[in-house]
Parts: sequence; C-alpha cells; structure tokens
Amino acid sequence: MGAEVITGITRGGTAWTPLFVTALNEEKCIGCGRCFKVCPRDVLSIVQRAIDDVDFDEDDEDEDDSDNSFMTLSNPMDCIGCEACSRVCPKACFSHEALPLAA
Ligand code: SF4
Ligand code: SF4
Repeated sequence: MGAEVITGITRGGTAWTPLFVTALNEEKCIGCGRCFKVCPRDVLSIVQRAIDDVDFDEDDEDEDDSDNSFMTLSNPMDCIGCEACSRVCPKACFSHEALPLAA
C-alpha cells in the first residue's frame, strides 16, 4: 500500500487526484496574468518588480506591462488543486503535488 493522498470524484463517478500548488517560479514568470484570471480561488497575487512600496499610484492602469510584474502564491492554503494555472502558464512556472491524507 502506497502513501494515501487526498482524492476527489467527478460528477460521473470518476476518481481524480487534486494536485495542489507547492511552488511558483517567480524568476521564470513573465507576469502575463493568465493564471490569475483562471484561478477559481484566492491563491495568487501580482507583485510589481523593483518598485519601492508603491501603494497609491493613481496611474496604475498598465496591466499589459507585464515585464514589471510577477505572480506570487499569496494564499497557497486556498488552493483546490485544479491545475488550471499550469494549463495556461506559458512558462511552466508552477509545481504541484498531491496532498497526503495525514500530515
Ligand atoms: S491549482 Fe487551481 S486553485 Fe490552485 S492555484 Fe492553480 S488554478 Fe488556483
Ligand atoms: S501564467 Fe505563468 S508566466 Fe503568466 S503570470 Fe502566471 S505564473 Fe507568471
């Protein structure tokens, strides 16, 4: 018997294993925001690169200027392991793992 992991089931009765996000490679990330758009949970946040604590920028409308930002796992414990983020990421930034039933 191998290590038991958390598993789910589809509406049709097929078993599946959620693969939860364990890491996001911020160096490879190009800040495209695709993962943020598809994630159904509150796991990801976009962070500006090399900017000193700018919180009140009224001209902050440059969402397409992805070179200046990257994605972070701001709330990884909210992940449901759907892998939608990895399906859309063009740089393969995400790592996933099944979660053991008992910690
Ligand atoms: S696996 Fe799903 S819930 Fe988790 S970060 Fe990716 S898109 Fe969000
Ligand atoms: S989809 Fe990939 S490259 Fe784009 S912001 Fe998310 S982690 Fe970064």
